[in-house]
Amino acid sequence: MTTELEARALHLLETVFGYPAFRGQQADIVHHVASGGDALVLMPTGGGKSLCYQIPALLREGVGVVVSPLIALMQDQVDALEEVGVRAAFLNSTQTFEETLRIERLVRTGEIDLVYVAPERLMTQRCLDLFHDARISLFAIDEAHCVSQWGHDFRPEYIRLSILHEQFPDVPRIALTATADQQTRDEIAHRLQLDDARKFVSSFDRPNIRYSIVEKTTGRKQLLDFISTEHPGDSGIVYCLSRKKVEETADFLNENGIRSLPYHAGMEYAKRAEHQARFLREENIVMVATIAFGMGIDKPDVRFVCHLDLPKSIEGYYQETGRAGRDGGPASAWMAYGLQDVVLQRRMIDESEADETFKRVLGVKLDAMLGLCETLSCRRMRLLDYFGEPSGPCGNCDTCLIPPVSFDATVPVQKLLSTIYRVDQRFAAGHVIDVLRGVQTDRIGQWHHDALSVFGIGNDRGEQEWRAIVRQTIALGLITVDHEAYSSLKLTDAARPVLKGGQKVQLRQYQKPVKPKRASFSS
Ligand code: ADP
Ligand code: ZN
Repeated sequence: MTTELEARALHLLETVFGYPAFRGQQADIVHHVASGGDALVLMPTGGGKSLCYQIPALLREGVGVVVSPLIALMQDQVDALEEVGVRAAFLNSTQTFEETLRIERLVRTGEIDLVYVAPERLMTQRCLDLFHDARISLFAIDEAHCVSQWGHDFRPEYIRLSILHEQFPDVPRIALTATADQQTRDEIAHRLQLDDARKFVSSFDRPNIRYSIVEKTTGRKQLLDFISTEHPGDSGIVYCLSRKKVEETADFLNENGIRSLPYHAGMEYAKRAEHQARFLREENIVMVATIAFGMGIDKPDVRFVCHLDLPKSIEGYYQETGRAGRDGGPASAWMAYGLQDVVLQRRMIDESEADETFKRVLGVKLDAMLGLCETLSCRRMRLLDYFGEPSGPCGNCDTCLIPPVSFDATVPVQKLLSTIYRVDQRFAAGHVIDVLRGVQTDRIGQWHHDALSVFGIGNDRGEQEWRAIVRQTIALGLITVDHEAYSSLKLTDAARPVLKGGQKVQLRQYQKPVKPKRASFSS
């Protein structure tokens, strides 16, 4: 049995937006908010959050106010709504005064369905007065995680949004976000005074995305192999940390027959816009970009997202990889990750301007990301677990398809720790590995490290293998990299029980990259 409200909502969905059915929890959310209830909506990117407030705004009398920090996207959102005949506008700092006056008039007279505002604009007395004069159907607070002080997108103005509840107690509010672990979720509910709001938590699972994380050796060459063997002729995104690496990687792919475009914030605006437009329009094209690229990008047939550098957090990784396979077809999230990434990301935290508490939060987030990289179990399980969602082995990630072999690494880790100790904790990974492997370099001669008892005790393993062990030992917190002193490796307190022999260490066996095999069902 459908109520009248539900029938009207469905009618709008079909006639205005052109979709035959609601997806997931959309129908419930629309019904709840259109009936005047408050809501906190957690839905992954691409899940269809916009309709959750757009349709209630059309169903209810008055103007729907959408608070969004993404000023750059407001024009696109308004254009898209106007295209389907919804009367929409925005109020932000990019407008002329005349334009502002015109929009304000429309809001006051109710000749508009939706108005987008930046949070700092909303907080002005002028804007609050305007909304008191007008009839407001609802407040939608998009990107609600910006209220969290521990998040990477913290916006101080978001905290003040709680006054919406105080000043407009009868207007329903819907807060939406794609990224919120349990702590951030609580923070949103608390700071926006949405403790009594109904929570709608969608699954974060993207079953059509195959996750894989490989050991970085050559990086760029591995990327080329991956694209040419797994995704020839497909469109995709490759994320790199620096602008320089973006340029170099795009050049490298182009030279090797893969049509690529660079995108980063250092490029001229016109060039960036052109590349973005081409990526959206054309097929068989790869965008090589910094994380500046992607907010609000809606290209359904992105078949792969690659990371040549380690993201800072699982939230970032999830958001970026989530741009693959929006059409539901098979897609890949591929990352190459190595010792250098760990060293670099830790250094970036150490050298950042953030205060100690915030640095600790960044460290915890990075550790969770490293945990995902080093896990011996299903990647998807690990990912969903981070978002508080229980699940089982997925069968569609690298660790499910080729279970990693773990081994008792107590002895090699003890050798590593002793060597670090013997060289007085004053040398970087490269030199420590040379000592372990017994390589006669000039530096080793200069420091007489060939005379140490540990010289050559690890010559049963190759350099890559040792790098993998060092990387995992850092991830486990047994050693740290001292950036104040030439990236030298230092032992932590946690190393002591391992050195003394009381504690065993299990590590992932170093494996040369192999292609996933299909599961076979023999009788
Ligand atoms: P989000 O804000 O959660 O990232 P959007 O609201 O931008 O997601 O929606 C993502 C895409 O899904 C858009 O192209 C949108 O038009 C489409 N979409 C949303 N709801 C539906 C639906 N019920 N049926 C079909 N497509 C939908
Ligand atoms: Zn899996």
